[in-house]
Amino acid sequence: ESAPKRDFIRDIINTDIENGKWDSRVHTRFPPEPNGYLHIGHAKSICLNFGIAESYNGKCNLRFDDTNPTKEEDEYVRSIIDDIQWLGWQWNGEALFASDYFEQMYEWAIELIKAGKAYVCDLTAVETSEYRGSLTHPGKPSPYRDRSVEENLDLFERMKKGEFPDGSRTLKAKIDMASPNMNMRDPVMYRILHARHHRTGNKWCIYPMYDWAHGLEDSIEGITHSICTLEFENHRPLYDWFLDQLGIHHPQQIEFARLNLTYTVMSKRKLLRLVEENHVQSWDDPRMPTISGMRRRGYSPQAIRDFCRVIGVNKFNSTVDLALLEHCLRKDLNAKSPRRMAVLNPLKVIITNYPEDQVEELDAVNNPEDESAGTRKVPFSKTIYIEREDFMEDPPRKFFRLSPGREVRLRYAYFITCNEVIKDESGNVVELHCTYDPATKGGDSPDGRKVKATLHWVCEAKSVEADVKLYESLFTAANPDDVKEGGDFTDNLNPDSVKVLKGALLEPSLSQAMPLERFQFERIGYFCADKDSTPEKLIFNKTVGLRDTWAK
Ligand code: ATP
Ligand code: MG
Ligand code: MG
Repeated sequence: ESAPKRDFIRDIINTDIENGKWDSRVHTRFPPEPNGYLHIGHAKSICLNFGIAESYNGKCNLRFDDTNPTKEEDEYVRSIIDDIQWLGWQWNGEALFASDYFEQMYEWAIELIKAGKAYVCDLTAVETSEYRGSLTHPGKPSPYRDRSVEENLDLFERMKKGEFPDGSRTLKAKIDMASPNMNMRDPVMYRILHARHHRTGNKWCIYPMYDWAHGLEDSIEGITHSICTLEFENHRPLYDWFLDQLGIHHPQQIEFARLNLTYTVMSKRKLLRLVEENHVQSWDDPRMPTISGMRRRGYSPQAIRDFCRVIGVNKFNSTVDLALLEHCLRKDLNAKSPRRMAVLNPLKVIITNYPEDQVEELDAVNNPEDESAGTRKVPFSKTIYIEREDFMEDPPRKFFRLSPGREVRLRYAYFITCNEVIKDESGNVVELHCTYDPATKGGDSPDGRKVKATLHWVCEAKSVEADVKLYESLFTAANPDDVKEGGDFTDNLNPDSVKVLKGALLEPSLSQAMPLERFQFERIGYFCADKDSTPEKLIFNKTVGLRDTWAK
């Protein structure tokens, strides 16, 4: 793996280490909210946080930011753990949960109340946003802002005990209702929510807001560099304010640009809609930009990590071309995938001069990019199948593949010549009769005769059948959010994003393909056995084509 590129975050860390800040420790964290599956955008943050820990011999925590009970589930926790491990990263110690810090957060809230820096407010959510003002108008103080410390302590305790209904009160920080930064206008620290939490059950009915909780979580864990996306730049003064008021360990928040990709949506809210509205089958549908979807599609961890390295880290939001991701994918798959022969759309070919009942074993190279991958045997017999697309009865000038009277090479096998085209009653080609030249075994002619095409094929006697799923991008618009007024991103869904081919024929070695095993089907593209594929019912997903068709 190539070394990570230098970036502005590593520059900051280098300076911190030179200056002995944090005793030259580096401790990052990846803090997903378990409210959905991880996507390729998260991979950028994962590679950044875990990558930095690795580069500096530091640590990276995995912390579930589970402060929002209504959207969080254990299923998501498990999938996140799987995905990070699959990407090849290991976190420091055990996986951590923000919910384990609820008690400590509550005590710190009491400390702020006692210091006159937090108060219980009875404004509704709508009133709160009215009082907050706008960018052009200062806010006005809540009528509850000057409650006494005693009253605040009493009300906050009763909030915790469950005496008040959802939404009836909040705990707010007392900061500055005229601040030009809206986040500093008495932000809510706690809300009342009588909801069951995936880990703490019904113990709590007040839940901390992100801005209050996040810095405390970082502080408790001794994080040094708290890396988040640019939307939080405006929240940094608040992150700093809470930690300064409490006088506790104060990590540095650093913001970077989130990843956006063409032809893809990346927010968990939108991905959840795709699943719930059955636009895709599941979170790990091979068309999804989730890590689990990409894994099932045939992406390798290395390809994703390489992509994250290539895009680098910066401070400006931009959209990366999907073609770049696919470029990184092909590069890795080309180097590592065993080659196999598979005929997606079979056309029967009978080699009329080949002995009946004979089956030969021919040597085929597993990976021309990797000699150590060796060779395998592929059977050859009188009846074989070629790709329907590789034959044309009346070929145009530039078509060099098989046609009547023409000779082509069968990969690893022989030269064959087409002599006769057999059709059904409606005139469809159903079978070709060809002859082979036994002297061309292995694929070369001793007399130096040249052919212009090499075709892949499978032998009828031994081939295995499979369903093959071909994918297009899930959206037809480069920016799926680019919609007419009143529309939404689902308007840009590609109605033809999946095509299922039944009855593809594969060379016999593929009958043993393990779920998620990756191959190159020669001349077609990269494929991966689906997670539900079995020897009895083989299913392959097309990962990506051999060449970049986007460039055309
Ligand atoms: P979403 O908008 O998809 O719901 P999120 O930021 O709410 O994402 P979290 O679970 O909170 O999701 O994300 C965990 C970490 O991953 C955060 O630090 C977040 O900044 C980072 N992250 C999320 N999306 C991206 C992205 N597209 N590019 C880079 N980092 C991201
Ligand atoms: Mg978040
Ligand atoms: Mg979110």
